[in-house]
Amino acid sequence: MTILITGGGGFIGSHLVDHLLEETGERILVLDNFSTGSPANIRHIDDDRLAVRDGDVRDDQTVENVVSGVDSIYHLAAAVGVEHVVENPLASLRTNLHGTENVLEAAREHDVPTFLASSSEVYGKSEAVPFSEADDRVLGPTSVPRWGYAAAKATDEFLALSYHETYDLPVTVGRYFNIVGPRQTGKYGMVIPTFVEQALSGEPLTVYGDGTQTRSFTHVADAVELTHELLETPEAHGEVFNVGAPDPTSITDLAERVIELTGSDSEITHVPFEEAFGENFEEPDQREPDVSKLQSVLGWAPEADLDRILEDVIEEQSELHPKVI
Ligand code: NAD
Repeated sequence: MTILITGGGGFIGSHLVDHLLEETGERILVLDNFSTGSPANIRHIDDDRLAVRDGDVRDDQTVENVVSGVDSIYHLAAAVGVEHVVENPLASLRTNLHGTENVLEAAREHDVPTFLASSSEVYGKSEAVPFSEADDRVLGPTSVPRWGYAAAKATDEFLALSYHETYDLPVTVGRYFNIVGPRQTGKYGMVIPTFVEQALSGEPLTVYGDGTQTRSFTHVADAVELTHELLETPEAHGEVFNVGAPDPTSITDLAERVIELTGSDSEITHVPFEEAFGENFEEPDQREPDVSKLQSVLGWAPEADLDRILEDVIEEQSELHPKVI
């Protein structure tokens, strides 16, 4: 049996590779164009069951070729990160729309069960926290590129559910909420790796806006376990699930905790969103998952454990930058 992971060279994808190699006896095939991911994320793996194909999900022939020999698919390849998406709106839309349609179409053709990675971004700037899967979504105008990512991920969900409805394709959608842990890069605007790097190098921690906005952080180890279980659970097929831990933290509290745990002398600076991302930018105030559906189908949901996440990221970055501690 072979499992395909698109985006397996990325942050979450590479942890999923580790998890599936450890938990199953299957072969793993990674398809990744290494745009935001890196071969370094899977370089530590010394296992003949892993094969890597450098290719693009936007290319339907490539996708058809890799899907034709596999038994299940985790579709994680996407253009991600607020900064990346804002700077590359068209390429992001093409990857997130056309790439996903290619994967679903090939999955249908070969009848391969598929997990689709969606995002809490689909809830947009809804204030009805905690967010439940069937809640209304509140998106801003099409002139703000951020909402293009949210709309594309939502369209991916419509596609996945329609493939399930029309062709009976076993497909499960997971909406990830701020998944964090080792190997995540701060390059594309991810807050925890950025804060930890700033704290370890004694630079000010840059908080965008007033820092009262809240996020729910989930350890990547929990996210990949849930991802695996969701695809393995027939009851979850044709359904959408929040994948995240409740109990949100404000960005200012997060910055203060990073400073405390690193023992850094760094200060906190506030940068207005317009200065960082231009006038055409909106930032939702709150993000918190309702995990009751996850709990009822899988029997568990992750618990928020910010210190464990931060300690793991700090440990990794301290090894990468030993001089700064
Ligand atoms: P990531 O950037 O590390 O992973 C995405 C991977 O997809 C990268 O390895 C990248 O090189 C690859 N990729 C991008 N475009 C591609 C293309 N056209 N063809 C082939 N490969 C391509 O980011 P991640 O955080 O690991 O995200 C994985 C998935 O989870 C994405 O679908 C993302 O939208 C979703 N997600 C992540 C989070 C989070 O908190 N990290 C939150 C919500 C949703």
